[in-house]
Amino acid sequence: MTLLHGRERIPLDIGNYQRNLLKGQKPTAATLVKMRSGYYIDIQVKSEAPDTIETDKVIGVDLGITDLAVTSEGETYSGSEIKTVRDHFAQLRTDLQRKASKGTRSTRRRCRQLLKRLSGKEQRFQRWVNHGISKSIVQRAIETESAIALEDLSGIRQTSNRRIKSLHKWAFYQLKEYVSYKALGAGIPVILVEPAYTSKTCHQCHHIGDRNGKVFSCHSCGWGGDADYNGAKNIADLGAAVNQPGGPGLFCLIEAEKIPGLQKAPLFRGG
Ligand SMILES: [Zn+2]
Repeated sequence: MTLLHGRERIPLDIGNYQRNLLKGQKPTAATLVKMRSGYYIDIQVKSEAPDTIETDKVIGVDLGITDLAVTSEGETYSGSEIKTVRDHFAQLRTDLQRKASKGTRSTRRRCRQLLKRLSGKEQRFQRWVNHGISKSIVQRAIETESAIALEDLSGIRQTSNRRIKSLHKWAFYQLKEYVSYKALGAGIPVILVEPAYTSKTCHQCHHIGDRNGKVFSCHSCGWGGDADYNGAKNIADLGAAVNQPGGPGLFCLIEAEKIPGLQKAPLFRGG
């Protein structure tokens, strides 16, 4: 490392896992990060993703708020745990802000420091949850030799609170990123589908139905059930259409996105 007084060698205090990741690699960049507990180094290495598997099976994943993720196989990853933690942090934040507004200058400074630390804790918890969910989804795709289909943009429909909205947007984005890179690393194709209609269409008969909170009901074929599961089924169907062009005949093609490894699904026409 180049310091003010010249270059210095600093040994890395890392475990076998990190050592293996670095073995035989040429780092392309490194960033030194100062944390409360010491200095950390982020080392960037480039690795070639394996060839993606060929499959016509697709697992659809619907990202939501009440349930963070629901798959077309009926697997549900509840958001209740993260909501509890988030509510707890929100309460602490309110208390600290109230205290800061009444306190002396040093109290205010102390509160500001605490607030900053809280937001770091909340983000780390979010990351940990998203790593767990994405790992489990990709593992399932490996076991069943399936591709994974996700919505291109997640509909944030259940809240109008702006702060919560941006938090959710970030959480969705992060979960999507984690699924994508874990899948690419495992040779699992990831397909992004247009979100239009995935939540309003009945996965059984493709008619537009009613969504009432977590419940979807179709007046055409009578199917009723979990709205996110219905969405995940539609996402899986849309994703499958990419792998069998012209298959179900319910789709029209739109321009494929130019992200290596990612394919874009046709837009669902409905009806
Ligand atoms: Zn129906």
